[in-house]
Order: sequence, then C-alpha cells, then structure tokens
Amino acid sequence: MMELTADHIKTWMKKADKKFQDKKEYLTELDQAVGDGDHGVNMARGFSEVIKKIDQDYETPSDVLKDVAMTLMSKVGGAAGPLYGTAFLKLSTQVKGKDVIDFSNFVESLNAGVEGIKQRGKAESGEKTLLDVWVPLTESLKEQSDFDSQSLKDISESLMNKTKDIKATKGRASYLGDRSIGHLDPGSVSSFYLFEALAETIEGGQ
Ligand code: ADP
Ligand code: MG
Repeated sequence: MMELTADHIKTWMKKADKKFQDKKEYLTELDQAVGDGDHGVNMARGFSEVIKKIDQDYETPSDVLKDVAMTLMSKVGGAAGPLYGTAFLKLSTQVKGKDVIDFSNFVESLNAGVEGIKQRGKAESGEKTLLDVWVPLTESLKEQSDFDSQSLKDISESLMNKTKDIKATKGRASYLGDRSIGHLDPGSVSSFYLFEALAETIEGGQ
C-alpha cells in the first residue's frame, strides 16, 4: 500500500508547476473563450511561487500542503487562487499530525477540499466549474481502496471533457449563458493537470 510522504507532496507540486508552465498559453486561450483570459497566468505564477516556497525540509505532508495553500491564496489572483488555496488548506488540516497520507486519509482530505471549494465558491457540481472534476472524482475514489494512477488520470480527464457540455451558472463563464456550452471549463482543465501530476507522482512510487 502506497503512502504519500512530505517529499511526495513536493514532487507532486513540482510536476504540477511544470504542467502549468507548459500549458500557460492553452489555459489562457480556454479562459479567453469563456472568461477574462487570466487563468493560465494565474496558475503559472501561483505554482512557480509554490515551488519556490516549498524548497525546504518538512516534517509532515500537512506542513507542505499548508505552505502550498498560503502561497496560492496570497499570490494567485482571480477566483482560482482562493479556491485552490482553500482546497489545499483543507487537505492540510485533514492530515495534520500524520507522518504519511494513506489512501483513505487522502480520500478524506479530498472530500474536505471539496467542501472547502463549495463553501468558498458558493457553488455545487453541475455549474461548469472545477467542482465538476473534484466532486465526482472524490465520489469515485470513495469506491476504491488504493492509489491507482491510471484510474486517477482517466477519471479526471473524462470529467474535464464533460465540462464542455455544461452550461455555466457560476463564475465569469456564467455571463455567457448558453454560449458557454461547447467550451471546456478552464478550472476543470487545470484541475485535471493537478490530478495528472499526482498520478505521475504515484507512478514514481515510493
Ligand atoms: P477568474 O474567474 O476570477 O478570472 P480564473 O480565471 O483564474 O479566475 O479561474 C476561473 C475558474 O475558476 C473557472 O474556470 C472555474 O473552474 C473556477 N470558478 C470560478 N468561479 C467559481 C465558483 N464560484 N466556484 C467554484 N469554481 C469557480
Ligand atoms: Mg479568468
């Protein structure tokens, strides 16, 4: 059974940062179609600050996650910074004091993250936001018993793609009404990269 250490969380964030730098333009284009075109810049800047901040030794995964949360909240503008920041803060709180995160701790913390995003964004799933990845992903992980990188990737990718068909009722995309249909939700795409980075960290093993 795999367990996530503080070093795994650092690796996860480094892999996520690399994706956000590589996909900065693409995320910007997606957000130009349904929002204000800053999502790529927000994520790229936020995660480059994150990896600078966490370049130090940590006792527990919770300590790393807390620094990730604080950095995202303070360095990322727009809706995404506070939303991702809140999610990581909930993850951190949920695993506080633990040396490692096992699969069931992870699912519990993801669940706490989802509740945090819902509260902060006053949103539910089905509104074409990153919750359309986080909520159903968490629900399907509750049915699983160990980390499975392929399934993590496949589920989050297919949930991301499904956001194309949803009409936005939260966030800037909601101003477009029906015209938001047919576009991917930028925050769901960045969430997919985040979970893909986690899957690759898990593949890297212990
Ligand atoms: P902004 O919308 O302020 O420009 P970003 O472009 O960085 O911020 O992030 C946009 C993404 O944030 C959206 O694609 C969506 O996934 C997510 N989002 C926006 N508003 C909400 C909300 N109220 N609840 C949950 N997620 C939201
Ligand atoms: Mg935006």
